[in-house]
Amino acid sequence: MTLDKSSKIFVAGHRGLVGSAIVRKLHQLGFSNLLLRTHSDLDLTDQSAVAAFFSAEKPDFVILAAAKVGGIHANNTYPADFITINLQIQTNVITSSYQHGVKKLLFLGSSCIYPKFAPQPIPENSLLTGPLEPTNEWYAVAKIAGIKMCQAYRIQFNFDAISLMPTNLYGPNDNFHPENSHVLPGLIRRFHEAKLLDAKEVVVWGTGSPLREFLHVDDLADAVIFSLEKYSGLEHLNVGSGREESIKELAELVKQVVGFEGEIVWDKSKPDGTPRKLMDSSKLMGLGWEAKISLRDGLVDTYKWYLENYKQ
Ligand code: GDP
Repeated sequence: MTLDKSSKIFVAGHRGLVGSAIVRKLHQLGFSNLLLRTHSDLDLTDQSAVAAFFSAEKPDFVILAAAKVGGIHANNTYPADFITINLQIQTNVITSSYQHGVKKLLFLGSSCIYPKFAPQPIPENSLLTGPLEPTNEWYAVAKIAGIKMCQAYRIQFNFDAISLMPTNLYGPNDNFHPENSHVLPGLIRRFHEAKLLDAKEVVVWGTGSPLREFLHVDDLADAVIFSLEKYSGLEHLNVGSGREESIKELAELVKQVVGFEGEIVWDKSKPDGTPRKLMDSSKLMGLGWEAKISLRDGLVDTYKWYLENYKQ
């Protein structure tokens, strides 16, 4: 069965950064039969509740974007929660999908599944070739298990389950927390607050030289629908823009988009982290997908969302 506008699609995690972008995109494209459940309607860690939901609703397609996510601090403080909740959510949704006749399932992970010292750009086949970054290994091990479950159900039962591993994502519904966010939303907030206070300078961490790849969530949402339509393979696929920006370039661009007129000051006592982090997305690109949103356009869109949602 192929995806069409009346397909019944369960988007698990539809309120998060990724899930909300997928729902926006599906609605834009005219998909009208979406199944959505908030956490209080359906606890995905509750096996019998998930089984009852699938038995009653019988979705045709499942997009698994529900996960417990967080930064380095949260991962270090709640490792048991990260490994347990993620294993429970994905195990319940994948097994119920198979048991209740789902036609295709798409599982979403992240680039942290790869070894800390993977080659750059990171190819899919570097999975399980070396030790993980220790600060988020609880989350990463759960996501690796999810990829392997999708593969195992395909091999043993011919169940059409695929996995996508996106690079650093940003966009509406991101976390703009002043200390605990990733660099891009963190800088949007910092430059915005500096503009409001008419500050002379904004402090940015590190030297500015590390290179990062950023993907707008709307581009990921596009890749999700593209992959549901075009890809049914055993291997997971990376999803990135294929473009690299230095933190310095990013900071200059955020400054322009926000309209801050002061100086950027580099706090070199703060860690740079890994010098380069880029995914090799050539497999997905080889199938005909590519990211369409430039970093500048994506920042404009994200800043607009921030202004509308963080007024206080
Ligand atoms: P990473 O990709 O896992 O290193 O995650 P981050 O998004 O936290 O950091 C990316 C890079 O941005 C690092 O080199 C940081 O030092 C740098 N950076 C500069 N300013 C900030 C900031 O305000 N917040 C964060 N999180 N990183 C910053």
